[in-house]
Amino acid sequence: MSKTCRECGAKCCKYFCFEIDEPDTFEEFEDIRWYLCHEGVTVHIDEGDWYMSIDNKCKMLADDNTCTIYATHPLICSKYDPKSCDHTGGDYGYDALFRTPEELEAYARKTLGPAAYKRARAKALAKLKKRQEKKNRSRKNHRKK
Ligand code: SF4
Ligand code: SF4
Repeated sequence: MSKTCRECGAKCCKYFCFEIDEPDTFEEFEDIRWYLCHEGVTVHIDEGDWYMSIDNKCKMLADDNTCTIYATHPLICSKYDPKSCDHTGGDYGYDALFRTPEELEAYARKTLGPAAYKRARAKALAKLKKRQEKKNRSRKNHRKK
Protein backbone atom coordinates (compact mmCIF):
# COMPACT_ATOMS: atom_id res chain seq x y z
CA MET A 1 0.00 0.00 0.00
CA SER A 2 1.36 3.44 -0.96
CA LYS A 3 2.05 6.24 1.54
CA THR A 4 -0.73 8.33 -0.07
CA CYS A 5 -3.23 5.49 0.38
CA ARG A 6 -2.23 5.05 4.00
CA GLU A 7 -2.78 8.75 4.64
CA CYS A 8 -6.10 9.16 2.84
CA GLY A 9 -8.24 6.87 4.97
CA ALA A 10 -9.21 4.67 2.02
CA LYS A 11 -11.80 7.00 0.50
CA CYS A 12 -12.19 4.82 -2.59
CA CYS A 13 -13.07 1.74 -0.49
CA LYS A 14 -16.00 3.42 1.23
CA TYR A 15 -18.47 3.78 -1.63
CA PHE A 16 -19.27 2.27 -4.98
CA CYS A 17 -20.59 3.86 -8.12
CA PHE A 18 -22.13 2.53 -11.31
CA GLU A 19 -23.71 3.80 -14.51
CA ILE A 20 -27.50 3.89 -14.76
CA ASP A 21 -29.80 4.51 -17.73
CA GLU A 22 -30.55 8.10 -18.49
CA PRO A 23 -34.16 8.76 -17.42
CA ASP A 24 -36.50 10.18 -20.02
CA THR A 25 -39.96 9.43 -18.66
CA PHE A 26 -41.76 10.46 -15.49
CA GLU A 27 -41.63 6.87 -14.20
CA GLU A 28 -37.87 6.64 -14.76
CA PHE A 29 -37.31 9.92 -12.94
CA GLU A 30 -39.49 8.58 -10.12
CA ASP A 31 -37.27 5.50 -9.77
CA ILE A 32 -34.22 7.72 -9.36
CA ARG A 33 -36.11 9.98 -6.94
CA TRP A 34 -36.75 6.86 -4.88
CA TYR A 35 -33.04 5.90 -4.91
CA LEU A 36 -32.30 9.36 -3.56
CA CYS A 37 -34.69 8.83 -0.64
CA HIS A 38 -32.08 6.41 0.74
CA GLU A 39 -29.17 7.30 2.99
CA GLY A 40 -25.80 7.64 1.31
CA VAL A 41 -27.09 7.72 -2.28
CA THR A 42 -26.22 10.42 -4.78
CA VAL A 43 -26.70 10.52 -8.53
CA HIS A 44 -24.61 12.53 -10.97
CA ILE A 45 -24.32 13.19 -14.67
CA ASP A 46 -20.85 13.15 -16.20
CA GLU A 47 -20.38 13.88 -19.90
CA GLY A 48 -24.02 12.97 -20.50
CA ASP A 49 -23.84 9.63 -18.68
CA TRP A 50 -25.78 9.02 -15.45
CA TYR A 51 -24.21 7.39 -12.39
CA MET A 52 -25.43 6.33 -8.99
CA SER A 53 -23.04 6.42 -6.07
CA ILE A 54 -23.64 4.63 -2.77
CA ASP A 55 -21.68 5.36 0.40
CA ASN A 56 -21.09 1.91 1.76
CA LYS A 57 -17.78 0.62 3.11
CA CYS A 58 -16.26 -2.42 1.44
CA LYS A 59 -16.51 -5.50 3.68
CA MET A 60 -12.89 -6.32 2.89
CA LEU A 61 -11.56 -3.10 4.42
CA ALA A 62 -9.92 -3.57 7.81
CA ASP A 63 -10.24 -1.07 10.67
CA ASP A 64 -6.76 0.27 9.88
CA ASN A 65 -7.96 1.02 6.31
CA THR A 66 -5.95 -1.76 4.68
CA CYS A 67 -7.42 -4.27 2.26
CA THR A 68 -7.77 -7.73 3.79
CA ILE A 69 -7.72 -9.37 0.34
CA TYR A 70 -5.06 -7.14 -1.22
CA ALA A 71 -3.37 -10.01 -3.13
CA THR A 72 -6.63 -11.10 -4.75
CA HIS A 73 -8.80 -7.98 -4.68
CA PRO A 74 -11.12 -7.39 -7.66
CA LEU A 75 -9.67 -6.11 -10.90
CA ILE A 76 -11.45 -2.78 -10.54
CA CYS A 77 -9.42 -2.19 -7.35
CA SER A 78 -6.16 -3.06 -9.12
CA LYS A 79 -7.01 -0.69 -11.96
CA TYR A 80 -7.66 2.25 -9.65
CA ASP A 81 -4.71 4.61 -9.86
CA PRO A 82 -3.69 6.44 -6.65
CA LYS A 83 -2.07 9.11 -8.86
CA SER A 84 -5.48 10.26 -10.11
CA CYS A 85 -8.04 9.13 -7.57
CA ASP A 86 -10.59 10.54 -5.14
CA HIS A 87 -7.86 11.63 -2.77
CA THR A 88 -5.21 12.95 -5.13
CA GLY A 89 -7.71 14.86 -7.25
CA GLY A 90 -8.41 12.94 -10.42
CA ASP A 91 -10.85 14.24 -12.96
CA TYR A 92 -14.03 13.77 -10.94
CA GLY A 93 -16.07 16.61 -12.32
CA TYR A 94 -19.74 16.26 -13.13
CA ASP A 95 -22.33 18.21 -15.10
CA ALA A 96 -24.99 17.82 -12.40
CA LEU A 97 -25.17 16.31 -8.93
CA PHE A 98 -28.38 15.22 -7.16
CA ARG A 99 -28.13 14.70 -3.43
CA THR A 100 -31.83 14.84 -2.54
CA PRO A 101 -35.15 13.72 -4.07
CA GLU A 102 -36.13 17.40 -4.30
CA GLU A 103 -33.11 18.27 -6.46
CA LEU A 104 -33.96 15.42 -8.82
CA GLU A 105 -37.62 16.39 -8.96
CA ALA A 106 -36.73 19.97 -9.86
CA TYR A 107 -34.50 18.68 -12.68
CA ALA A 108 -37.24 16.30 -13.91
CA ARG A 109 -39.80 19.11 -13.96
CA LYS A 110 -37.43 21.28 -15.96
CA THR A 111 -36.46 18.48 -18.37
CA LEU A 112 -39.95 17.15 -19.07
CA GLY A 113 -41.53 20.59 -18.82
CA PRO A 114 -43.66 21.60 -15.81
CA ALA A 115 -47.02 20.95 -17.53
CA ALA A 116 -45.92 17.62 -19.03
CA TYR A 117 -44.51 16.59 -15.64
CA LYS A 118 -47.82 17.36 -13.94
CA ARG A 119 -49.78 15.47 -16.63
CA ALA A 120 -47.47 12.44 -16.47
CA ARG A 121 -47.76 12.35 -12.68
CA ALA A 122 -51.56 12.53 -12.78
CA LYS A 123 -51.69 9.85 -15.49
CA ALA A 124 -49.35 7.52 -13.60
CA LEU A 125 -51.32 7.90 -10.36
CA ALA A 126 -54.66 7.34 -12.17
CA LYS A 127 -53.25 4.21 -13.80
CA LEU A 128 -52.06 2.94 -10.45
CA LYS A 129 -55.45 3.60 -8.84
CA LYS A 130 -57.23 1.75 -11.67
CA ARG A 131 -54.91 -1.22 -11.29
CA GLN A 132 -55.45 -1.26 -7.53
CA GLU A 133 -59.24 -1.15 -7.96
CA LYS A 134 -59.09 -4.03 -10.44
CA LYS A 135 -57.00 -6.04 -8.01
CA ASN A 136 -59.45 -5.34 -5.16
CA ARG A 137 -62.40 -6.39 -7.35
CA SER A 138 -60.70 -9.60 -8.31
CA ARG A 139 -59.91 -10.35 -4.64
CA LYS A 140 -63.58 -9.77 -3.71
CA ASN A 141 -64.79 -12.06 -6.52
CA HIS A 142 -62.32 -14.69 -5.44
CA ARG A 143 -63.68 -14.62 -1.88
CA LYS A 144 -67.30 -15.01 -3.15
CA LYS A 145 -66.48 -18.29 -4.91
S1 SF4 B 1 -6.36 5.07 -4.33
FE1 SF4 B 1 -6.66 7.19 -3.70
S2 SF4 B 1 -8.66 7.22 -2.68
FE2 SF4 B 1 -7.97 5.11 -2.76
S3 SF4 B 1 -6.89 4.72 -0.85
FE3 SF4 B 1 -5.36 5.35 -2.33
S4 SF4 B 1 -5.15 7.57 -2.11
FE4 SF4 B 1 -7.08 6.95 -1.11
S1 SF4 C 1 -11.50 -5.12 -2.09
FE1 SF4 C 1 -9.90 -4.11 -0.96
S2 SF4 C 1 -9.12 -2.52 -2.35
FE2 SF4 C 1 -11.07 -3.22 -3.12
S3 SF4 C 1 -12.59 -1.78 -2.32
FE3 SF4 C 1 -12.46 -3.53 -0.92
S4 SF4 C 1 -10.96 -2.96 0.62
FE4 SF4 C 1 -10.73 -1.58 -1.11
